[in-house]
Amino acid sequence: MVIAVDFDGTIVEHKYPKIGKERTFAFETLKTLQKDGHVLILWTIRTGELLDEAIEYCKKNGIEFYAANKNYPEEIYDESISRKVNADIFIDDRNVGGFLGWGEIYQLINQDNPNNKNNYLNRLAQNEKKSFWSIFKNRS
Ligand SMILES: [Mg+2]
Repeated sequence: MVIAVDFDGTIVEHKYPKIGKERTFAFETLKTLQKDGHVLILWTIRTGELLDEAIEYCKKNGIEFYAANKNYPEEIYDESISRKVNADIFIDDRNVGGFLGWGEIYQLINQDNPNNKNNYLNRLAQNEKKSFWSIFKNRS
């Protein structure tokens, strides 16, 4: 999935235009999401130098975004016009219900993922049930 991630208030505590402290598990979760194969786009109101600072800060913490404030690295983006990036999911501290925390966000993203461990175990259990019933039916 393409996941757009806000910066201020989401990856770090909201201290705009300064950079706040990392929110608990932010970079750990982002790294795991990248390992899981998701494409991360930084989606922030920051532009110019403030945007560069945020990108640099994330890089130092092990996260390189596929693109920042655009859909792909080469896209020419007019920063004077605000519009929505084409992402499957947005992670933002202004969600309805407020910021969920990175642990819960990761769980929510993964509950529909077929590679998720619990989903995998459930599928195994389902298949076992199926094969049990097919053996049972073939007998009768
Ligand atoms: Mg924010």
